[in-house]
Amino acid sequence: MMTAPTSMAPILPDLPPPTLGVLGGGQLGRMFVHAAQALGYETVVLDPDPDSPAGRVAHAQIRADYRDGAALHELAARAQAITTEFENVPAASLAELARTCVVAPAAEAIEIAQDRIREKAHFVRCATAGGIDPAPYSAIESEADLRQVPDALLPGILKTARLGYDGKGQVQAATRAELAAAWQRLQCAPCVLEQRLPLAAECSVIVARGRDGQIVSLPVQRNLHRNGILAVTEVYEGNVSASVARQAHDATVLIANELGYVGVLCVEFFVLAGERLIVNEMAPRPHNSGHYTVDACDLSQFDLQVRTLAGLPLVQPRQHSAAVMLNLLGDLWFDASGAARTPPWARVLQLPGAHLHLYGKRQARPGRKMGHLTFTASDAQTARQQALAAAQTLGIAPF
Ligand code: ADP
Ligand code: MG
Repeated sequence: MMTAPTSMAPILPDLPPPTLGVLGGGQLGRMFVHAAQALGYETVVLDPDPDSPAGRVAHAQIRADYRDGAALHELAARAQAITTEFENVPAASLAELARTCVVAPAAEAIEIAQDRIREKAHFVRCATAGGIDPAPYSAIESEADLRQVPDALLPGILKTARLGYDGKGQVQAATRAELAAAWQRLQCAPCVLEQRLPLAAECSVIVARGRDGQIVSLPVQRNLHRNGILAVTEVYEGNVSASVARQAHDATVLIANELGYVGVLCVEFFVLAGERLIVNEMAPRPHNSGHYTVDACDLSQFDLQVRTLAGLPLVQPRQHSAAVMLNLLGDLWFDASGAARTPPWARVLQLPGAHLHLYGKRQARPGRKMGHLTFTASDAQTARQQALAAAQTLGIAPF
């Protein structure tokens, strides 16, 4: 019988090396493993996929379902502290691990982030406390809810409360008839209907909050989505106005504090005309829009994840280079006729400031995140120019 973690003492790098665990073996887990290993930690990944990006670079992988009791027990026995890399991890599994092990973020925070209805309710609470409002919305959990939707929410976007990502689980609806059909299409699952807003831009903020409540933040990221998937992130002085940056930063800190959050948290925002901000959603983990930090900041979002998990000191990261990141989706591995190809890496790598990251996935599929490419430079214009040149070489539309 193991005992609950009584001490919140930091898990310092030591001999023999302590082990950090991660639930989920995707690319975010892989980059967490890289950051943990740089500090000498050993790592263990729980993921059912024998070919998972993180599992293949970690010291050990437990290949099992996230709900497998024996596997969770083994993970808790091997690791001194455990985090997660995707928000659809079963909260009950995190709660189980937390009985004997340090777990961050907490199951309660993940439960809120993985349910759009609870997430929006949290945003509304924070807005009341001086934060930023979400888009006008209604929760739809029954036929009665559907009938009571105010006309003002149409045209809108119906989003499943759970398990959506990269624009999946979302249907547009312009009329009440379309809304009813959309809900059918989503199997009448609990949903939120959001008013469709005219976006001038999108941005996100990543913060890291320690067990003692100390919080540090990364610069505001300006994001371009295509087909509901992040395509480009630009981070440099002036990427958004100073007012938007300050509002987004302050709202994110409030959202993290009000959750009593421990770990890395990303909050996505819509920017409307007149520098008006709307809070969109949060991710209880490092985020695709923060990948540039690995190459452009003195502490990456994954370094911050390791530090918050192990209870190491948090210091404010410094961005030392302007950065433009391009997501590399599986589409790039196919030519116009649909035949498999290898993207022209040699030509991309000739460009100054290119940092190519591939996640080691064995197979490309359209829309699948295969890697990313960050351009760093001493000024924004150069980073943009190189990124645009790479986009042209790869067949990514200009931005
Ligand atoms: P996901 O969990 O798939 O990232 P999001 O809710 O963030 O889902 O939606 C994905 C993208 O769809 C957003 O980044 C934005 O570009 C667009 N979008 C989502 N909701 C709205 C809205 N209410 N109005 C306008 N565009 C939206
Ligand atoms: Mg999103």
